[in-house]
Amino acid sequence: MRKKIVAGNWKMNTVISEGENLVNGILKRMNEVKNATVIVAPPFTHLYLVAQLLKGSTIRLSSQNCAAEDSGAYTGGVSAKMLISVGAQYCIIGHSECREYYGETDEILYVKLQQALKNNLIPIFCVGEVLAEREANRHFNVVRVQLENTLYRLNDIDFEKIIIAYEPVWAIGTGKTASPEQAQEMHAFIRQTLSKKFGAKADNTSILYGGSVKPSNAKEIFAKPDVNGGLIGGASLVADDFIAIATAF
Ligand code: PEP
Repeated sequence: MRKKIVAGNWKMNTVISEGENLVNGILKRMNEVKNATVIVAPPFTHLYLVAQLLKGSTIRLSSQNCAAEDSGAYTGGVSAKMLISVGAQYCIIGHSECREYYGETDEILYVKLQQALKNNLIPIFCVGEVLAEREANRHFNVVRVQLENTLYRLNDIDFEKIIIAYEPVWAIGTGKTASPEQAQEMHAFIRQTLSKKFGAKADNTSILYGGSVKPSNAKEIFAKPDVNGGLIGGASLVADDFIAIATAF
């Protein structure tokens, strides 16, 4: 089933007390959210506490990344198995900041997808083009290659578990949002590209839009037929804004 999802990527923000306040603020207003699955992705350091705070609620917990390896001498690494053990259910993989700052290539991301899937963490897999690629009219090609190098290599059963986030890099944290039409056009392209490999199964994939989504623009973006929700950065750090987005369907 194509689910409506709103996921908050906190990135490297909040100390633990601030994270606790943020979760409590979201929990307090969760009764207003009728149509969407809500996911929060706090920093690694907060996951265990947030998992305890979320017990008994419908909010789901995600990490922002995972290691490509199982275990061993990888200083600083956090494995998918560790994440499951502290209560995470989802894992963001392939965020453009990780691709850019940590050199995560499609090949590494494919291994991370496998790590997540074999440990029962559901991947929220990010794709998207940078500004120069869009300006050169290469954006469809760039996203197609990102999909072919990664998701195309999954089997049907694993593919059905994946959530996709289309995040044009030029819209992340910049205040520039893709227009609802630009988002719909790319989401439809992603679905069509995936259907070439996975057939009708691609109809059921949730494809989220990410890039400067705010309470003021969420409704018109989420109204597009192939946009099944959002991956929210900045606005997910304010409980009332995040709730306003999660109720914008
Ligand atoms: C993100 O980092 O996934 C994101 C979409 O950020 P922002 O909403 O701040 O643009």
